[in-house]
Amino acid sequence: MNPFDIQKIRADFPILDREVYGNKLVYLDNAATAQKPQVVIDAIVDYYTWNNSNIHRGVHYLSQIATSAYEDARETIRAYINAKEKYEVIFTKGTTDAINLLAYSFGEKYIHAGDEIIVSALEHHSNLVPWQILCQRKQAKLKIVPVNDKGEFIFEEFEKLLSSKTKLVAVAHISNALGSINPIKKIIKKAHERNIPVMIDGAQGIVHSAVDVQELDCDFYAFSGHKLYAPMGVGVLYGKEQYLEEMPPYQMGGEMVDQVSYQHTTYNRLPFKFEAGTPNVEAVLGLNAAINYIKGIGIEQIYRHENELLKYATNKLKKIEGIRIIGEADQKAGVVSFLIGEIHPYDAGTIIDHFGIAIRTGHHCAQPIIDHFKIPGTIRASFAMYNNFDEIDLLINAVKQVKKMFE
Ligand code: PLP
Repeated sequence: MNPFDIQKIRADFPILDREVYGNKLVYLDNAATAQKPQVVIDAIVDYYTWNNSNIHRGVHYLSQIATSAYEDARETIRAYINAKEKYEVIFTKGTTDAINLLAYSFGEKYIHAGDEIIVSALEHHSNLVPWQILCQRKQAKLKIVPVNDKGEFIFEEFEKLLSSKTKLVAVAHISNALGSINPIKKIIKKAHERNIPVMIDGAQGIVHSAVDVQELDCDFYAFSGHKLYAPMGVGVLYGKEQYLEEMPPYQMGGEMVDQVSYQHTTYNRLPFKFEAGTPNVEAVLGLNAAINYIKGIGIEQIYRHENELLKYATNKLKKIEGIRIIGEADQKAGVVSFLIGEIHPYDAGTIIDHFGIAIRTGHHCAQPIIDHFKIPGTIRASFAMYNNFDEIDLLINAVKQVKKMFE
């Protein structure tokens, strides 16, 4: 494995050279979306320059090239997450789309009145609202695993919620609001003791850790390309063949069908049954390029670097009087959420932005966990492979300036 060369990595991301308000951009909003390396941008440009064509349905040269590039990308992803079969990798628009697919399709097949679905108090709205609406539609019940004051999933409470009525557990791998890493392996094992399937929202998890779906033994794993240095508009739903075979399609149209007449339609095989319509081919190719790029660096090295940044930022923030860190889980990745005294996060964020520093403020699409802490929101800095310690020093300086302005 190559040594982790931060200078070289930074040079691969052209946007890092731009200025914002006369300052060099410091991009610390990676949990919202990550920047793209040149190889990903090139993959998109190459596709539209040389190979643009619709896939799976053309006999002509370009269509065949585009189709095999698209299917090669599926194989890259299969291997990256160690799915058993390539057709267990379904392309979606992103995590939200993947979870909506599952909530509709799994819900149609397996959820009935009186059933229960378990999520945690740490979920992004994307892994909460689809289940809430499904439960309303099917007269089922949504159960919430509480968190402790450090922002950690309380495993004992989870065990208590499991029952013969539980039909699915859907939890985040890593919380986007607090950075807490959930004990997903333990959760999956416990649920499987009762034959309950588990869906992991991996929107943040896949970015900060190696994911082996067979080793985890999760039944579903969802993630977005754009948080993984790939383009927007592509994501993945991994699902075990057994469930995907039984579940009905989510959207109807071209590609997901086999035979169509006015009276009757039969469905295509996996994975196409779940991929109606023309997909976002260039984004899939960009995702392929992003994963190959990450593999070239090594996700373990990336995680180690981000963890050092996280520790460095947390220690420096804690030294500033009046700073409150929200979410201090023992197992944490990629994110530090905090408040500066009584200053509203939005006011702080607006000032910090003027230093050219992109951070996130607010509830981070996870209102219930923010309500749990009885705060209006947080200021969130989230780290990626290309961030460095100087950038954190700049953030710390900006935070001190905010404090000074309000004193
Ligand atoms: N789940 C988590 C944990 C997230 O962090 C996000 C995005 O921030 C999502 C789901 C939704 O992802 P997307 O907007 O890419 O569909």
